[in-house]
Amino acid sequence: MFYMILTLNTHFFHYQECESFQIKRCQRKMKIKAVMIDLSGTVHVGTNLLPGAKEAIVKLKSAKVPIKYVTNTSKESKTSLIRRLKSAGLHIDKDEVFTSLSAARNYIISQNIRPLLLLEKEALEDFEGIETESPNSVVVGLAPTQFHYEKMNEAFNLIKSGGSLVAINKSRYYKSEKGLSIGTGAFVSALEFSTDCKAYVVGKPEKNFFHLALKDFMNDLKPIEVLVAGDDIRDDVLGAQKAGLQGALIKTGKYQEGDEDRFGEPNYLFENLEEMADYVIDQFSDP
Ligand SMILES: [Mg+2]
Repeated sequence: MFYMILTLNTHFFHYQECESFQIKRCQRKMKIKAVMIDLSGTVHVGTNLLPGAKEAIVKLKSAKVPIKYVTNTSKESKTSLIRRLKSAGLHIDKDEVFTSLSAARNYIISQNIRPLLLLEKEALEDFEGIETESPNSVVVGLAPTQFHYEKMNEAFNLIKSGGSLVAINKSRYYKSEKGLSIGTGAFVSALEFSTDCKAYVVGKPEKNFFHLALKDFMNDLKPIEVLVAGDDIRDDVLGAQKAGLQGALIKTGKYQEGDEDRFGEPNYLFENLEEMADYVIDQFSDP
């Protein structure tokens, strides 16, 4: 795997030396056979679809490019997320989405732990059937109503008594309808700091998350044949690239000017999702 990543990187020219339109032309292509698309900030912000997002998905589907939505969203269940996107005008099937909440549920079951769930009630549906009496661990997602002293102190004491700390993600911030908003990672870090304990992170940018998502999606594809598109340079793009997939930074959502220079180099940089779709379709149909 490591060899493959090195091979890809040495074949890519630096995109900054290219005109925007030529980004795709001056890179040595590694054929993309499927795409994994981030949702928040890439397809939608709150209840609004981003410009070009719906068109991109329609185009990709007509060209028969396999799509999986891969999201770190931890504030609401998969059903609630799909319902919200439907009301915004985008129809997504349940099996088209891989969420960090689903991955967290699988992890809880595999470790046989009884979690204190620091989650909003809209997210709890994804944990139905999980034993939460007498918790022996803490699971943290984006839970604005739970992030107060009393609850954080309860979590702190559980961990100090030997409980494990599981982060559904460690997102620094995200784009909401009100602007940028603080993410789960800040609260996970507070617990790590006070307990001298390191969280097990389930979601992006963890390598295991991308590999689980790929297994759930197209088990017969190599990671390098799949492009991950998202607005977060670290959690989506560099995380995917470290896991051996290709990464495309989409300049929407939380993207801020210069992100592509500040943290590491994405394989691709696109103005919006539609530009990514046009590129993928162009090379997908190219024999
Ligand atoms: Mg995003």
